[in-house]
Amino acid sequence: MKGKEILQQMTPYQPGKSAEHIKRKYNVDKIVKLASNENPYGYSPVLKQSLNNFSFNFEFYPDGYATELRSTLSDTLKVNDEQFVFGSGSDELIQIIVRTFLQHGQHTIMATPTFPQYRHHALIEGAHVTEVPVVDGKHDLDKMLAEVTENTKVIWLCTPNNPTGLSISKDEFVSFMDRCPNEVLVVLDEAYYEFQDPKYDIDAINQLKVYSNLITLRTFSKAYGLAGLRVGYAVTTEKIARQLNIVRGPFNTSQIAQKAAVIAFKDQNFIEETVSKNKIVKDQFAQFLKTINWEFYPSEANFMLVKTPSSGEHLFNFLIEHGYIIRPGELLGYPKTVRITLGEKDDMATLHLLLQTYNRQMLEQE
Ligand code: PMP
Repeated sequence: MKGKEILQQMTPYQPGKSAEHIKRKYNVDKIVKLASNENPYGYSPVLKQSLNNFSFNFEFYPDGYATELRSTLSDTLKVNDEQFVFGSGSDELIQIIVRTFLQHGQHTIMATPTFPQYRHHALIEGAHVTEVPVVDGKHDLDKMLAEVTENTKVIWLCTPNNPTGLSISKDEFVSFMDRCPNEVLVVLDEAYYEFQDPKYDIDAINQLKVYSNLITLRTFSKAYGLAGLRVGYAVTTEKIARQLNIVRGPFNTSQIAQKAAVIAFKDQNFIEETVSKNKIVKDQFAQFLKTINWEFYPSEANFMLVKTPSSGEHLFNFLIEHGYIIRPGELLGYPKTVRITLGEKDDMATLHLLLQTYNRQMLEQE
C-alpha cells in the first residue's frame, strides 16, 4: 500500500535515543539534554504544587473550546475569544494552517535554515516550497517578498529564528507587511517570544488590527516548560480562526494540558526567572566562545548556533560520550555548526570545559 507520492522522498521524524540508552552505551551517570530547546529550569512551581490538588475526569473528553485557557489568554492579551486556535503544540497548528491554506499547485515561502515543519507539512499537501537563505542568520525579507507569485498563499516568519536565534525587528516586520500582498497569509512563529529582548517585540497581537493576513503562533513548550503536555496557540482574525477551527480536531488539547497552561500562564514570576537565568548563561557562553575563538550567532532565544572547527556531527559524537546531547547543524541544513540549547549554570560550566578540551584536540590535529 503506497501513500502519497511525495512520501517516498521523505522520512519520519527521528527521535533521539533515550537517556537510558545513552547512559548504558557511553557509561555515563548523567545526561544533559541540550538538543530540543526545552526549559532546563522545569516549569512553574505553582503548577507543580497545584497538580496534587486536581481531580481530573479522564473518562470525559476535554473541553474542545478550551474555555478557561481561552479566557485567561484573551483577558491578558486583549483580544476576542474567537481569535484563538489551540493546538497540540504549535507543531499541530502549523499542520492545521497548512491543511487549511495549501494544496497542490500552490506556493509557500520560508527561510532556510528555519523550523523544518513548515516545509514538511507543505510538501505533504503537495505545495511548492521556496526556501530563501538567511543572511547572517536573519530572514532576508526583501528576497522573500521578491519570490511571491500569484500562487503564493503562505509566508513563514520565525522570530527569533530557530536555529539561528536572530529576531526580526518591528520596523522590518512592518515594512515587510506593508509590501506583502494582502492575499498572502503571513505566519509569524514566536515560539521563543518570551526570551527575546523586549526591543524586538513586534507587538504581533496588535498588528492584527492593521494586517488581516496575519497569524501569530506561541507555545507553552519553551519558556513555560510544558513541552511534554503539548499546548500552543494561534492568535489571528476571527475569520481565519474560524477556518482553522474547521480543520482542527475537536479534542486536540487534553484536560491536563489546558489546566496546566492556565496556571503556568498566570505564574509570570517563573517566566521572568527563566528568562533572566537564560540571559546570564547566554552571556557567559558567548564570552566563553570568544576565548576559544569560535564564532556564533547572537541569539535572542534559549539556544545558540555555534560554528564548529570540524563537522557538527563530530562535536556531537565527542559530547555524547560525556552525556551531553546537542543538535548537529548537518541535521538542520547548516553544516559545520551545532545548535546548543542553553542549559542551567553548572551544566553549562561543564560544557565550557568539554568544549575547551575538544578545541585543544582539534588544534593539536592541525
Ligand atoms: N516553532 C518553532 C520555531 C520551534 O522551534 C518549535 C519547537 N522546536 C515549534 C514551533 C513547535 O513547538 P511545540 O509544538 O512544542 O509548540
